[in-house]
Amino acid sequence: MPNYVLALDQGTTSSRAILFDAEGRMVAVAQREFPQIYPQPGWVEHDPETIWTSQLEVAREVIAAKGLLPQDIAAIGITNQRETTILWDRETGVPVSNAIVWQDRRTAGFCDQLKSEGFDQVIRAQTGLVTDAYFSGTKLAWLLDNVPGARARAEAGKLAFGTVDSFLVWRLTGGRLHITDVSNASRTLLFDIHRHDWSDDILRRLNIPAAVLPRVVPSSQVYGETDTGIFGGPIMVAGMAGDQQAATFGQACYSSGMAKNTYGTGCFMLMNTGSEAKHSNHNLLTTIGWKIGDQPTQYALEGSVFIAGAAIQWLRDEMGLIRDAGESEALAQSIADTGGVYVVPAFVGLGAPYWDQYARGTIVGLTRGSGRAQIVRATLESIAFQTRDVLEAMHADSGLNLQALRVDGGAVRNSFLMQFQADVLGVPVQRPEVTETTALGAAYLAGLAAGFWQSQAQISQQWAVSATFEPRMGADQRDALYAQWKRAVERARGWVQA
Ligand code: ADP
Repeated sequence: MPNYVLALDQGTTSSRAILFDAEGRMVAVAQREFPQIYPQPGWVEHDPETIWTSQLEVAREVIAAKGLLPQDIAAIGITNQRETTILWDRETGVPVSNAIVWQDRRTAGFCDQLKSEGFDQVIRAQTGLVTDAYFSGTKLAWLLDNVPGARARAEAGKLAFGTVDSFLVWRLTGGRLHITDVSNASRTLLFDIHRHDWSDDILRRLNIPAAVLPRVVPSSQVYGETDTGIFGGPIMVAGMAGDQQAATFGQACYSSGMAKNTYGTGCFMLMNTGSEAKHSNHNLLTTIGWKIGDQPTQYALEGSVFIAGAAIQWLRDEMGLIRDAGESEALAQSIADTGGVYVVPAFVGLGAPYWDQYARGTIVGLTRGSGRAQIVRATLESIAFQTRDVLEAMHADSGLNLQALRVDGGAVRNSFLMQFQADVLGVPVQRPEVTETTALGAAYLAGLAAGFWQSQAQISQQWAVSATFEPRMGADQRDALYAQWKRAVERARGWVQA
């Protein structure tokens, strides 16, 4: 009887492998960073071969560390950096170029052109996404237009496109499977999330031949087995989802109105909206959460904040106000409030719900008494205020009221931040025991399909909270602080003149 599920967590800066046991506990983890490639300003690439080798090495490492055989592992689940685009040769499996990473802005001009034609309306209606270089579609179009010979080979059916999930499954199965799951498909800009199929309208406008596209599969289903050579015996591959969707699944946000927020470099909040795709009137994305076997597709609203934990790094690296991120907590707690100081960390513009690329960072409300503690505290508070901005938009779009916010990511160890978050939202904040929710979600998706776990209800019961932060602030104070934050944001907006 297999005792473990193996999660492959292919992230933007590192590849990780984590083994989980039947109770959903982490029993082994290995991680390998790989190089970022910046060919010119605004461009970000990865070598797909280093994605693959780093991922394979860590997978073999955790299996070896526990002395396991392939038959000890019930299934593999994959979760991945989303939107990153790879195009490879179906015959040889060799990529035609580096992967274009989600952060890459090279197709911003093409996106502007699509918007000026009004084609962003078609994209919005069919994919639930805003027309932005972030998503895969225009990156794939760029590869077809710029890699010599790529278009002719693609039209002749000789090339395969995929996000990182597709590429890993292709490699793991020795080229037998060219698939992607619905959650990853919903980030390509090419997938109609209502009809559950690739959009002919968008493929035509972006000039992408359907022959390159992967088959779209559920997020939890036995897809096939790994090639025997890879782990010395076959292991079932049975789950796939983009990182934020996997984290939502790992947080057991299974009914509509449940939401999780991840506090890493930026913040990513997803709210489950059940089997209904809610159109956003407040600049959020409508996206597919997951699909379990032949059950109905589950949707989510998503809002991302660009700078969250990165603002704490800024305090440390550029401002020199703290020696390490952890120090921010005691410093914030050394004072009762910021004395009216607000930091708006719009270093790269503002994401949801503002989408203002001309906003820049600002500090307002300084007085002669404002010092290091006030600025550090105001920076932490800005993470919580930005989260409230997104949550307000989610309430407005979904009509759903949040009962509690489940949190994960590196910055959730900051208990001051978590308490302030609860205060500013007026909603309890729950920090779970397992904060590796991305990998856990991938493991759960795979383990469900493999019969290692019986049901989502069973998983919901395994989800355990390690700390709950109850709102303690009065409504008047909460509203006053938040109203002042909105004024501070206005000061930051539209700062850079186009
Ligand atoms: P990512 O996956 O985006 O790299 P992580 O989930 O690993 O991010 O979280 C790292 C981020 O968390 C960093 O930006 C760091 O500044 C922030 N962080 C880590 N510890 C703390 C802390 N105690 N207080 C506030 N922020 C923190």
